[in-house]
Amino acid sequence: MSARWKAIGALGLVVSIVVCACSPLNQQAPPERLAVVARTSVAASPTPSPTPTTKAGDLTLARAVDFRALVNETLAAQAIALLRQDEEAFLRPANNADARNGLLRRYRNLTAMRVTGFQLSSGPLEADSGTGQWKSKVYISFCFVVANCTMDGVSEPAVWADTATGPELLALQPAAVSDDWYGDPQPWELSDLHVAVGTRVVVATTAALKNRLPELLREAEKAAQVADEFAIRGKPDLYRVYLADKNEWKTWFGVVMPRWAAGYAKEIGPSHTDVVLNNSSARSQYLADMLRHELTHASTLQGKHHWSGNWWLIEGIAELAAHPVGLGPADWKAETISYVRRSWDRKLPGEDPPDDISDSAAGARYGVAFLAVKRLNDRFGHAKVIDFFERVIEQDLPLSVVSESVFGSPWSEVEADCIGFIRAYR
Ligand SMILES: [Zn+2]
Repeated sequence: MSARWKAIGALGLVVSIVVCACSPLNQQAPPERLAVVARTSVAASPTPSPTPTTKAGDLTLARAVDFRALVNETLAAQAIALLRQDEEAFLRPANNADARNGLLRRYRNLTAMRVTGFQLSSGPLEADSGTGQWKSKVYISFCFVVANCTMDGVSEPAVWADTATGPELLALQPAAVSDDWYGDPQPWELSDLHVAVGTRVVVATTAALKNRLPELLREAEKAAQVADEFAIRGKPDLYRVYLADKNEWKTWFGVVMPRWAAGYAKEIGPSHTDVVLNNSSARSQYLADMLRHELTHASTLQGKHHWSGNWWLIEGIAELAAHPVGLGPADWKAETISYVRRSWDRKLPGEDPPDDISDSAAGARYGVAFLAVKRLNDRFGHAKVIDFFERVIEQDLPLSVVSESVFGSPWSEVEADCIGFIRAYR
């Protein structure tokens, strides 16, 4: 995950900045996909399973297999119902008011976000002999707005009743936080969202902040044009931006950010990186910079990328997009100059700033990252910087190899030139 610091506040107050939390990515394989792929163009009903040899109420392994097939039929029908915007059919499996309300939240959020790809399937069913209930993980694949969009996945624990008339959903509760890349809770699972849809971006927030949606969408659409120019391996089919209020900042995606973080970009699958902005930091005067920074993470970071040792490059390219005319006073320019003169170790920073670093020191490290990538961009041009980034971050090739092949110069020379440029910055 990659973050952005808060800008210096109004009235000259030094508000705070960031820790970039580029987390290691989970290496687990994608979940098993069992249900039919249900897109808007799919009109067929789910394929019936063979007649079960077991019956409702059995808690045997054989019943677990049969019941999983029945649950998958139910889920496949729900996926089709959602895409057809058939609310009644989508809610039909709910056994109780809580389960119904949970499904209703998902239905309303996903249709508001114009879901165009949606797929549900169940993991193995596990019986609880005490209650007679069954537990499973429901695997959800989804994407929005664009026809034939690339789907991402999230899994959600579910509890089922095995009845004579079919599976009934007793409970559906996203995990607060998960070790599984696919387990982190999506905003549309946790909160009732208000949504605005543009051509390149969908933005969403809670009721308390819905008045900010027009401004957020307008600025995000402009930022997307910039981020698209930095795209690695093709533009994302859509950017997704969530504006978090206090509670949502602590719960969406199961992320715990330092108090001084202003926003983050979260890789949620192989092809999308979602953006969350902290509303308290996303004042109008900073919104454009924040969005250019975070959406450029979304366009440059693909799923499992290689962040270790490359913090300066990952953040530097986002900073280059954020500050097309260079660092301003709110971007810690003075602190960067001071840091470079007094305490910089004359190395390109490879790892996140420590959690306990001062605000100005963290801001200065972002300044160093910006200057390093700006120098590469000035010297070699945009296309070669993109090529360099792709080979280092996505392919994990050594800097020494990539520098020779892309820039035509040894990395030792290129790095020394960047360091000289940073030291001379005024
Ligand atoms: Zn960042």
